[in-house]
Amino acid sequence: MTNDISPLVVAVDGPAGSGKSSVCRGTAARLSWHYLDTGAMYRAMTWAVLDAGIDPNDAQAVANFAKKPDIASGSNPYQPTIEVDGTDVADAIRQDRITSAVSAVSAVPKVRQLLVQKQRDAAQLAMRSGTGIVVEGRDITTVVLPHAHLKIFLTARPEVRAQRRALEQADGGVVADTTVQATEAALVKRDELDSSRSTSPLVKAEDAIELDTSDLTLDQVIAKMVAYAKAAAR
Ligand code: C5P
Repeated sequence: MTNDISPLVVAVDGPAGSGKSSVCRGTAARLSWHYLDTGAMYRAMTWAVLDAGIDPNDAQAVANFAKKPDIASGSNPYQPTIEVDGTDVADAIRQDRITSAVSAVSAVPKVRQLLVQKQRDAAQLAMRSGTGIVVEGRDITTVVLPHAHLKIFLTARPEVRAQRRALEQADGGVVADTTVQATEAALVKRDELDSSRSTSPLVKAEDAIELDTSDLTLDQVIAKMVAYAKAAAR
């Protein structure tokens, strides 16, 4: 039995393509816990910024706008949802135009302040209702939930991350080497932007467990996560 583990807050960070979403969703589902994809919240804010005709690189304009959209995330791991002012943006936020603009929008301190508060509220709400939660992002272990019961830093070699992302984008179809190379270049660029920004950069928390997923299957990684949760709950 796995769902007899007492409720925990599990914070997970890692670069793009490290497997965070599948691993965190799978772990939360296995434990009947909540799941929060904070990257989807930054993507939703980026969608709203572009929808309002605002230049994502104009930090002041983004900061002035940030309070307007109502960004709501559903935390069921079997069916996570993300909405902006009641509009379902789950598919739209995966478009390339969002991926290219999201690092600029998420570097704006006002945006982070607003979304971090929502993320902390979601963790509190889960625990108050007696349910654990797995929260994934870039600054969850360091800034959002530094007192989480369990902190994980997921990694994978850049070529493995690029291969996974390219496969995801091809929806299981065949992927050319050049596509993987282009995906790797885009991932490395986004990692650099996310790791070098002054507000809440992506860094490994000192007390986070580093888990390299390069040579593991999804099931193997989820099994490790569940084992870590069991140990942390003792
Ligand atoms: O996880 P995902 O790749 O969807 O995240 C999209 C972007 O959102 C990241 O590249 C990063 O710029 C931003 N992000 C962030 N802080 C988080 C989660 C995501 O800045 N906690």
